[in-house]
Amino acid sequence: MALELRPNCEYCDRDLPPGSTVARICSYECTFCAECVDGKLRNVCPNCGGGFAPRPIRPQREWRAGVSVDKQPPSTKRVHLSYSLDDIAAHAMRIKDVAPEDR
Ligand SMILES: [Zn+2]
Ligand SMILES: [Zn+2]
Repeated sequence: MALELRPNCEYCDRDLPPGSTVARICSYECTFCAECVDGKLRNVCPNCGGGFAPRPIRPQREWRAGVSVDKQPPSTKRVHLSYSLDDIAAHAMRIKDVAPEDR
């Protein structure tokens, strides 16, 4: 299974193309930009409470046969927040200081 490579930051809606180095994902592939993760979200996913890691780029060039952004294109379905901004802020404050291994 390849990552979906969702096309946007769920919080600020900026585009996050497959080559972006500022895309961040949680273990469920909830997708945000680095600025929102560090600033608004405090490294707490608003949907699951987990943390984030950089999303790897998908190669533009077919360095190996059958694997590239053209062969496995990114998702085009834009994703938007499921909770209010106030709710997300409270959720982040509640969880941000819980160590990853204790979440
Ligand atoms: Zn963002
Ligand atoms: Zn999540």
